[in-house]
Amino acid sequence: MSFPPYSEQRRSLVEQFVKQAGVTDNRVLKALLFVPRHEFVPKQYHEQAYADHPLSIGNEQTISQPSLVGLMTQLLKLKGDEKVLEIGTGSGYQAAILSFLAKEVVSIERIKQLADRARKKLKSLGFSNVIVLTGDGSKGYEKKSPYDCIIVTAAAQEIPRAFVKQLKEHGRLVIPVHTNGAQILKVGIKKKGIMQFTDIEQVSFVPMVVDK
Ligand code: SAH
Repeated sequence: MSFPPYSEQRRSLVEQFVKQAGVTDNRVLKALLFVPRHEFVPKQYHEQAYADHPLSIGNEQTISQPSLVGLMTQLLKLKGDEKVLEIGTGSGYQAAILSFLAKEVVSIERIKQLADRARKKLKSLGFSNVIVLTGDGSKGYEKKSPYDCIIVTAAAQEIPRAFVKQLKEHGRLVIPVHTNGAQILKVGIKKKGIMQFTDIEQVSFVPMVVDK
């Protein structure tokens, strides 16, 4: 399967912005060349889909800029045989990137309309190893745990315990966390049951909404 429309634009996006942002993992670069980002944004934004900036996807939510998707994905160090949990499906674009790079993807979205649309889109494009669920992802999804990696694409007030519990030993968690009035992207590795975090950079995501 391949997606010829806009393939030249995708190539220049990867060359000009994604590599410049520090993405060096060849598999991640290939995923960004492969996945047709325009398919995941409203029609009026198709022409803008390969500029390196966030775009509105409706329901007051946004799809991140491609270089940040690349950086966050690279932090997961996917080799191909992993089970990955994503919180915040949104358009389904990040889930498609993960689908290309891992064995199985579980993605959770709290807004039903977005989840339904993303599920349909992923299916129609042939990304068949992704399950999209509707619900509050701040509790993770125990039924399919443990996960090799968890990636959160909404900013958390604090790191939910469920994520740590549902990660495998040596598993990786990539998550933006509100810290002193800013949002900091963190990557954590679970070692002997305890998370060891490294701060990556300041980011700007919509908040992760925790349903009471
Ligand atoms: N990864 C997406 C962009 C994410 S935008 C993409 O590639 O398009 C953040 C998404 O997180 C929004 O759609 C928002 O509705 C969702 N979200 C916020 N809190 C959530 C929660 N607790 N559980 C699941 N999804 C959540």
